[in-house]
This record gives sequence, structure tokens and C-alpha cells, in this order.
Amino acid sequence: MAAQDENWRRCNKCQGLFYTGNPTFGTCPTGGGHDYSGSANYSLTYNDPSQPQQPPYVPSPPAGQGLPSYGQPPYGVAPVSDPIAPQEPRKKGRRWLKIIIMVLVLFSAVASAFSFINSVLHDPVPGVVNQYYTAIKNQDYTTAYGYLAPGIKAITGGEFITLSVFTQEAQDTDTAQGKVRNYSIENSMRPINGSGSYTATVIVSVTRNGAPYDVNLNLQQIGGEDWKITRYDRL
Ligand SMILES: [Zn+2]
Repeated sequence: MAAQDENWRRCNKCQGLFYTGNPTFGTCPTGGGHDYSGSANYSLTYNDPSQPQQPPYVPSPPAGQGLPSYGQPPYGVAPVSDPIAPQEPRKKGRRWLKIIIMVLVLFSAVASAFSFINSVLHDPVPGVVNQYYTAIKNQDYTTAYGYLAPGIKAITGGEFITLSVFTQEAQDTDTAQGKVRNYSIENSMRPINGSGSYTATVIVSVTRNGAPYDVNLNLQQIGGEDWKITRYDRL
């Protein structure tokens, strides 16, 4: 049996319909009480069998059993989220996180590969050895001596190689075996390890009067700056 319930008015602040039969005007979401000035007096019809009825509330069964909840939950019951649709944005979020992490990993891999290639392409060690042997070839022993590490010692005897010791050795070698006519770097190795290595070994093929011979050089990056020759077995 249908019935009427009047005294419902529209709040001109929140546009909500509220009951004005009470002494106060409730709480408007926009702040303060509702304000129905200018509103008509609405009558609401209820219990009208000719009007479509709201479906009864059906709570969600345990996961995987039957249909999810539908209908309006009774007052005081928290609405149950749809087990399928509302989770989609969360999945999307995780996917974005995965993509971002993958991009970061890829970027760091590319960056370290680039830095490795860069260090190989722009390895300063062969340049230092080239300048060292160019100076020796030009009998510019003072310049050549500048590429030796400070405090370098002779491998036989162990005495300090001073500029005069080095110059004497170089001149003696020139006299005995002829001046350097040609040289080429046969091999330049820098052991690769995780913490970064600051030593290098270089083999130089040197030609004086006779057949070419190998010179073994050890180098070290002194104080994180210039590479210096810390050991040579011949000139
Ligand atoms: Zn209001």
C-alpha cells in the first residue's frame, strides 16, 4: 500500500534532499546545516507496489563460490568491493612499478656498460707508454723519466732509479744495442674487478739494431691521477 511522506526539501548548497520535519537541518557536507531556501516541498512515495523495488542485499559468499555481492547493503554495513573490477587499478599500479624498476635496471646496466666501454676506448695507459717510448726514441730521457713513478727502483740491485741513473742506463743501451728505431704496443692489460683496478701491464715490442724484443712495463695510477711506470725490465 503506497504512502506519502512530505517535508522533504532540496538543499541549495549540496543539492541533496533532506527531511525538514525535524527541529534542526542536519549537517550539510558543504559545512553547517542544509539550506532549503527556494526549495519546493517534496513528497516522497513509499511502499508503492507499482514501482520497481530495489533488489535485496546479498552479501558476498566465500571467494570462488557463487556470485559476488549485489544490492545495497543495509545501513551500517560497509559496502563490499567488487572482487574483480576494483582491483584493476591496483594491478595497474604494480605493473607501472615493475616497468619503472625495469627501466631503472636497464638504465643502470646501459650506464655501466657505457662507462666500461668508455674506459676501454679512452684507456690512458697506451697513451702514457707511447709518450714514454717516443721520448726514449728521441733520446729525450728527462721527458721519458717523467713517466716513471717516483721512487722507482731497479729490478736488479734494487737501487733508486734517479734521473742520472736512468739517463746513463738509456745512453748505455743506445750504445750497446743501437737507438730505438721502432716500437709498438703489443698488449695492454688492465685487470677488471668490481672495485676497479688501478694497475696495468703493458708489453712493448722495441726494435733497435737487432731483432725486435719485448719490454714488460707495469703501470699504476698514482693518487687517482696520472698513470706512471712502476717497473720496466728493459729499455
Ligand atoms: Zn546541504
